[in-house]
Amino acid sequence: MGTVILGSGIAGISAGYHLEKSGENVVIYEKDSDWGGLCGNFTIDGFRFDRFVHFTFAPDEYIKNIFKESVELIEHVPFPSNYYKGIWIRHPAQNNLAPLSSEEKTDIIYDFVNRIEKPVDEIQDYGEWLRVQYGNYFAENFPFKYTRKYWGVEPKELETKWVGQRMYTPDLKQVLKGSFETQDECFYYSKVMKYPKKGGFRSILNKCREGLDIRFNKKVIKINPQEKIVIFKDGTSTKYTRLISSLPLPEIVKMIDGIPEEVKEAGLNLMHTSGYMVSLGFNRPDVAKHLWFYIYDEDILPARVYSPNLKSADNVPEGCSSLQAEIFFANSGAQENCPPLAGGPKSVISRRGFFNPQTPPEVILEKTIESLISMGLFKEEEIAVKDIRFEKYANVIFDKDIYKNKKIVLDYLYKVGIESIGRFGKWEYFWTHQAFDDGRKVLKMEILK
Ligand SMILES: Cc1cc2nc3c(=O)[nH]c(=O)nc-3n(C[C@H](O)[C@H](O)[C@H](O)COP(=O)(O)OP(=O)(O)OC[C@H]3O[C@@H](n4cnc5c(N)ncnc54)[C@H](O)[C@@H]3O)c2cc1C
Repeated sequence: MGTVILGSGIAGISAGYHLEKSGENVVIYEKDSDWGGLCGNFTIDGFRFDRFVHFTFAPDEYIKNIFKESVELIEHVPFPSNYYKGIWIRHPAQNNLAPLSSEEKTDIIYDFVNRIEKPVDEIQDYGEWLRVQYGNYFAENFPFKYTRKYWGVEPKELETKWVGQRMYTPDLKQVLKGSFETQDECFYYSKVMKYPKKGGFRSILNKCREGLDIRFNKKVIKINPQEKIVIFKDGTSTKYTRLISSLPLPEIVKMIDGIPEEVKEAGLNLMHTSGYMVSLGFNRPDVAKHLWFYIYDEDILPARVYSPNLKSADNVPEGCSSLQAEIFFANSGAQENCPPLAGGPKSVISRRGFFNPQTPPEVILEKTIESLISMGLFKEEEIAVKDIRFEKYANVIFDKDIYKNKKIVLDYLYKVGIESIGRFGKWEYFWTHQAFDDGRKVLKMEILK
């Protein structure tokens, strides 16, 4: 009996570290065979891949210091790139239009100048937000397409509170300047992105993970808040006095004995993206040219590709390089689009025009490799390692019912004494430092003890 934490991602590790430091004994239970959650990584023949892109840009001194004390960090100035109809454009595309044809530049600038004006609080949805910020031509050809690939929904299905600083909004002078010449300034929302010199992204947590009691291969399948007991898939169970969970809300609502039907339904209706990681290692040192880049073309599956060896040379064997491509689709507990087994439909595009989640992974892998080869990035014979993995929970989708549904679930968890933390426990667009900070906040949750 004692404090039990579910999940050893950054939120669970942070909660465990801070509670242990304050004198509370904790045990962390994790379904996987290793720690880190989305901050974790895997290695194939000497090529290390994180689970999706991952850099840290923590602004908070306390968190920055913990990461710094854990591992030496490399500082990158982010100059991502964009791939659009066979052309490479510096990021953000909206004020780096120089490489485009004069026809497209004219259409973009004309629509930018004549875009509709509307106060932010009157904007109905993300689609409208994009038209108001950038004008119709740019909105429809860049972020609309990217939204379908990254979020798996139409822009009009999203609300706008999540956008914050994430999208750069240039003025006319910047748009004009960028259409004549390449801009050298970094316009990314964080000017420095840090990455561990050794050990992959999760090494930022080395200091916190040290000494924590983490039990692996412990998949939670049932929670009884009345009896204060957690039951695992392997048939074992544990009693608790305090329960902190970083499990995704659509999962936890399926586990709790006696949960009201409307709470379960609210949890299952929360939308999120699921994603495939296509990981490629090359027997050549110079395949990777960009730290990461976005792909707008809808006939190319990945939304974004990044280069693990440019993040740190420690991620590849000497003389090699690597890429990881990210492919997403919209999902929810109500739909349950899990990775289909081999032998499913070969079509990669669904009826709605989006990526078809029923496509078998081996087809996704081959189509992705084909596309990247056709973009001129590498040759088939240069591939030393190829791998595809599925991640059920990638990003929280900010559809119009998100706030209503998550409030129903979080209020209920609070009532039955379950402290829910982290990206999928709070159902927020948390970066790693925010998930870490959320784990730290369990120190203040005395009320639930
Ligand atoms: C594509 C992508 C790119 C990103 N890039 C960045 C970036 O560059 N920089 C940045 O700061 N952030 C980035 N993030 C965000 C970052 O990954 C998250 O904010 C953070 O890792 C979330 O940590 P967490 O502990 O809340 O959740 P998780 O990492 O999901 O941890 C939850 C843990 O619970 C475990 N679990 C789940 N179900 C069960 C169960 N039934 N029983 C037991 N254990 C269970 C899981 O295995 C996991 O270990 C990115 C995220 C994505 C999807």
